[in-house]
Amino acid sequence: MARVALVTGGQRGIGAAISEALKAAGRTVVASYAGNDAAAQAFTERTGIPCYKFDVSDFAQCEAAVKKIEAEVGPIEILVNNAGITRDATMKRLSRQMWDDVIDTNLGSCYNLCKLVWDGMTARKYGRIVNIGSINGQAGQYGQVNYAAAKSGIHGFTKALAQEGAKIGITVNAIAPGYVDTEMVRAVPPDVLEKIIAKIPRGRLGRAEDIARGVVFLTTDDADFITGSTLSINGGQHMY
Ligand code: NDP
Repeated sequence: MARVALVTGGQRGIGAAISEALKAAGRTVVASYAGNDAAAQAFTERTGIPCYKFDVSDFAQCEAAVKKIEAEVGPIEILVNNAGITRDATMKRLSRQMWDDVIDTNLGSCYNLCKLVWDGMTARKYGRIVNIGSINGQAGQYGQVNYAAAKSGIHGFTKALAQEGAKIGITVNAIAPGYVDTEMVRAVPPDVLEKIIAKIPRGRLGRAEDIARGVVFLTTDDADFITGSTLSINGGQHMY
């Protein structure tokens, strides 16, 4: 039986590439999303991958969704915590709401979903968890106190949970993408983007597929001895 993989935010951007790559690697893939029904419908029509709508920052919604997915598709053995948002502002303008939204969506979601799949993975003595961090969680970024804190938190979360999972067959790793050509990055002003690309030794933005290949590898049996690690995929922009 193909292992079931849940990719949060898995119907567009980096998440869509992850979902498709996992499917190509023989997994049974389920994608989640927040509210972009049009993108979800188009994605399912194109790939055959079902999409479930729920807010990853809301524990009760995650709980109901995990129950539904496990009843309809099967136990989740691979979890990719990819859903994320930015609410950029310097400290002067950073409201409490912008802080909470980013922490709850990017970091709180990792707690919510790991918590909800953990008992099942423990009982089956198998699990693969990959959390999507960011270069900006490693290096910091102007105007991203909330985002950098959430992503940096993901890296600590990963190392701590990996210690709990190691003896019971659950690996927990993170990927820290550099700047990847998605809608999130296309929202950056062109002059700022040009300066960012100039700082990437490989001379280009990342592609969603660059990140997806890393996720696929970390969820294979070949990666069984890798846990608690952060794989930087950033074209050499930040060597951590
Ligand atoms: P996109 O903005 O393209 O897609 C974000 C995805 O997350 C969408 O599927 C969205 O659903 C989903 N999502 C957002 N909020 C919620 C929520 N509350 N509940 C459920 N789903 C939610 O992002 P990217 O593909 O660019 O980024 C993917 C991940 O990679 C993020 O964690 C991001 O921080 C990280 N990253 C991205 C980089 C980049 O350069 N793009 C660089 C480093 C890290 P919907 O479509 O319904 O809104």
